[in-house]
Amino acid sequence: MNKKSVTDIDVNNKKALVRVDFNVPLSSKDPAATNITVTDDTRITAAMPTLNYLLDRGGSLILMSHLGRPKTADDKQYAMDPVGRKLAEITGRKVTKLDDVLSDKVKAAAAALQPGEILLLENTRFDPREKKNDPDFSAQLAGLADIYVNDAFGSAHRPDASVDGVAYAARAQGKPAVAGFLMDKEITALGIAVENPPRPYVAIMGGAKISDKIKLIENLLEKADKILIGGGMANTFLKAQGHNLGKSLVEEEALPEAKRLLEMAADRLILPVDVVVAAEVSQDAPSEVELIWAISPDKMALDIGPATLERFNAELQGAQLVVWNGPMGVFETPKFATGTFQLAQTLAALVDHGATVIVGGGDSAAAVRKAGLTEKMTHVSTGGGASLELLEGRQLPGVVALDDK
Ligand code: ADP
Ligand code: MG
Repeated sequence: MNKKSVTDIDVNNKKALVRVDFNVPLSSKDPAATNITVTDDTRITAAMPTLNYLLDRGGSLILMSHLGRPKTADDKQYAMDPVGRKLAEITGRKVTKLDDVLSDKVKAAAAALQPGEILLLENTRFDPREKKNDPDFSAQLAGLADIYVNDAFGSAHRPDASVDGVAYAARAQGKPAVAGFLMDKEITALGIAVENPPRPYVAIMGGAKISDKIKLIENLLEKADKILIGGGMANTFLKAQGHNLGKSLVEEEALPEAKRLLEMAADRLILPVDVVVAAEVSQDAPSEVELIWAISPDKMALDIGPATLERFNAELQGAQLVVWNGPMGVFETPKFATGTFQLAQTLAALVDHGATVIVGGGDSAAAVRKAGLTEKMTHVSTGGGASLELLEGRQLPGVVALDDK
């Protein structure tokens, strides 16, 4: 990565303002609920290498993150208190959670901070200046600490004050603005696919819709040798080819785009030849395999079929790089998870043979986790939107803003 990270600067005994991604799932979204808890602490533990690195060197931490999508500071169900309690449990240290994002109280607490101590600011989205990327707000945030560290890869695509403006403000104050370990790992791993991909490079796309992923498909078509397409996304392509999709999810308004992409690269877009169909998305619904030119008018395509899996496996043999975004079916229902899970098995075997396999996208990461194969992949990105924007070939504001090496 061409950006500086915590290992490139002197962090000894420094106060560090760290943007983390503590946007964790909570036990309740009820504003009246008390004792809300964090139900999955993956994102908190993912930041621990950076936080421990700083603490072990006599550093102190001022942590900030957004949590959920609060409209105002009155949406108390998104207060950071449960995150603070979880962080105290994980670190075994006292965590002082503040009730403001920025105030005289926050400034006083930051000024009094001692080595090894941890402050947690209130949900950055409680302050309207966060989303406005307000320069004065950014400058005051940067003023709280000696260095700024961004370890929130999942937020790097958002030009918010705590991600973007604050980095420029820190630099204007003569302070380092650098990446944490998680950020560094993500950029390095996903960068392989964008910069000099090893070949053959096979991309796999799936998920529900193509409309939000057209840019991604276009960029992958430029970079990858082949794109295998499954999931609901494949339905729209199949329909564009003239097949009857029955009651399947098809994006009618995206048909012209699908046709255009097929004309551009029909030989490199590999579509399903068979699908698993059912009358409803239910574990109890009878299902069967149908060829794509014989889909029953009253059925929905909910997974790729065995012949498609075989075709995909054949295309993947010998691949040096695989980038996967989007499940092959409605994997949330076990009956329609076979295509997704078997594909994940194929990819795990490819990694064993030396290939690089990168998985991006929130649901895709969840599917690989459900298959128990996260550890087998070269890299499973923690950032949904951010990883997709990076793979689209876009620059992420939160990365651009950091110090160059
Ligand atoms: P990601 O979050 O990895 O980018 P998406 O959000 O694009 O992935 O798509 C995931 C969703 O697509 C899942 O909820 C899954 O149920 C749905 N999906 C996959 N295949 C189909 C299908 N054939 N019909 C309807 N929905 C599908
Ligand atoms: Mg998704």
